[in-house]
Amino acid sequence: MDADKLKRRLEHVRARIEEALARAGRPSGSCRLLAVTKGRPAQEVEALLALGQLELGENRVQEAATKIPMVKGPARWHMIGHLQRNKAKKALELFEVIHSVDSLRLLEELGSVASRLGRSPEVMLEVNISGEATKHGFAPEEVATACARANELPNLRLVGLMTMAPIVQDPEQARPIFRALRELRDRLNDAGATRCPLVELSMGMSQDYEVAIEEGATWVRVGSALFAEGET
Ligand SMILES: *Cc1c(COP(=O)(O)O)cnc(C)c1O
Repeated sequence: MDADKLKRRLEHVRARIEEALARAGRPSGSCRLLAVTKGRPAQEVEALLALGQLELGENRVQEAATKIPMVKGPARWHMIGHLQRNKAKKALELFEVIHSVDSLRLLEELGSVASRLGRSPEVMLEVNISGEATKHGFAPEEVATACARANELPNLRLVGLMTMAPIVQDPEQARPIFRALRELRDRLNDAGATRCPLVELSMGMSQDYEVAIEEGATWVRVGSALFAEGET
């Protein structure tokens, strides 16, 4: 993809993020863009960095392990895909934030690897709000238990919750999913479930990020709206 087109796409997405924040009466800058670079080459990543887009997401450790060392520049990498426990160490070497902690066993493994490496990564718990069998994540009623376990892992900084909405025709159909994640976060905070209040909500992708922002997203994970083939 040529650099001008990428710049236009990025500006367009950033403008729509700000418009959605304004519609929701939220402060400018209170939702950040995570540019999802899976399947894209290192030189496009560097083009994003040159445009000031430093927060980048990948969904596979293996792809990230070859790409990240090739990228020159001050990127901050976020892991957003399903992570196998045997790749926890590699993931903590590559990523600053893990959005997709989807089981107690993975949480515990990340906690012990982080303490061995002397790292304190930010993590989020992935919640399967829609209940689809194909999706990873904690059931909503399991999240309080996962928070209690995270409280005992001093090297993990649990900062929020993440969800994947179902693929739907009309982004409005995803709104109840996003709202439910926000309400779950608020209930956990009201109950004092974590060492520090949960501030982040990682929700919304190219199809539905504006609706997610209206429902409180603090991170939107956008790939195809930046990179897909097509005009504009
Ligand atoms: C690919 C991916 C995204 C971005 O999806 P787009 O529809 O391309 O914006 C977001 N989150 C996760 C977990 C992904 O794997």
